[in-house]
Amino acid sequence: MISPEKNQTESIQSVPLLDFHRGNGPLKAEIMETISSIIDTGRFVGGPFCQQLEEMVAEECQTEFAIGCASGSDALLLALMAVGIEPGDEVICPSFTFFATASAIHRLGAKPVFVDIDPVTFNLAPDRIPSLITDRTKAIIPVHLFGQCCDMDPIMEIARENNLHVIEDAAQSIGASYRGKRAGGIGSIGCFSFYPTKNLGGFGDGGMLTTNDPELADRLRLLANHGMRPRYFHQVVGINSRLDSIQAAVLGIKMRHLSRWLAMRSENARQYDKLMVEHGLSSLVKAPCQSKDGVHVWNQYTIRLPAGSRDQVRESLAERNVGSEIYYPVPLHQQACFDYLNVNPETMVQTDLAAEEVLALPIFPELTREEQRYAVDCLAEIVLSEHTQMRMAS
Ligand SMILES: *Cc1c(COP(=O)(O)O)cnc(C)c1O
Repeated sequence: MISPEKNQTESIQSVPLLDFHRGNGPLKAEIMETISSIIDTGRFVGGPFCQQLEEMVAEECQTEFAIGCASGSDALLLALMAVGIEPGDEVICPSFTFFATASAIHRLGAKPVFVDIDPVTFNLAPDRIPSLITDRTKAIIPVHLFGQCCDMDPIMEIARENNLHVIEDAAQSIGASYRGKRAGGIGSIGCFSFYPTKNLGGFGDGGMLTTNDPELADRLRLLANHGMRPRYFHQVVGINSRLDSIQAAVLGIKMRHLSRWLAMRSENARQYDKLMVEHGLSSLVKAPCQSKDGVHVWNQYTIRLPAGSRDQVRESLAERNVGSEIYYPVPLHQQACFDYLNVNPETMVQTDLAAEEVLALPIFPELTREEQRYAVDCLAEIVLSEHTQMRMAS
């Protein structure tokens, strides 16, 4: 008799980039029961489930306060509003990030000032910040990209010297840490997203803000609810950005599994590293690097391929049913909507290179060893034959 396990190993012929069913499936009954109880109470916005989630996230991030909101994008907008960003102000952020990091700045009439990245971590390069500071600079938004914290000590030092706010975009990095401190607990405010693809993903949109400053916490809560206090009396002009009770309840249930899921992601990353070496790929494929200063939570496992070969490799992986994704193909300084900023491409060399070379492989927690082996087998087959062709051509 063929053992079912062996049979399964041999039949692996596809690897999804993401598979939400594997994480959500085992929790479905508990989630359905909780949603049903919320329907019975009729309390759909705010309430005990939101408060519980805020407490859990504050504990996870080791901050005094956590404030729910409607999305990670709103969290960034609210954070900038809370520290008083106004038209004409400048805010420094990376160009190699998701759009929301810079759109929040633009939306307030302020100017995004893009800083190049460190080629090893993909995070903004602190030593590039000082030359970008002007008398209009008000804040820095370090983005903890792919699950790894920025080099925060020099960033905080530059901020202190220049009296700037630091708003952490920790949308991809809940649970990550830097020199013993958690993402979202280092700057003035931390911004989190619960979009389904994040490490703590809900059943739709959701977001959270973290801070240790009671005045900022109070202001964030006020701004997220139309600046209204008490009801129908508006102190300031805020926005409507609330966390739904159903979303908070789902996230509260999933939150209890977060540390296990993060450990599984980390184990998957370790496994990929090992497989790359075993396949002799180390000289052709650059595996992502984990800084010794912190704990990486692996929202993405992003490899670098030789410039010019990435898109072909991705296509060939897709032909073999191996999911992959490019985060991010077009850096923000190259987006049509930011043409008006006239960014000098010579200042964005590492950002532009990364955009041409990066490829994210599947790394969701429940990914199996066999799937990883199949994915790297395929990658090796593609990259090694491509390499041979390139050598023959030259
Ligand atoms: C996902 C993400 C956001 C936006 O979060 P949403 O919840 O989708 O609005 C912002 N910044 C980064 C770096 C992200 O990855």
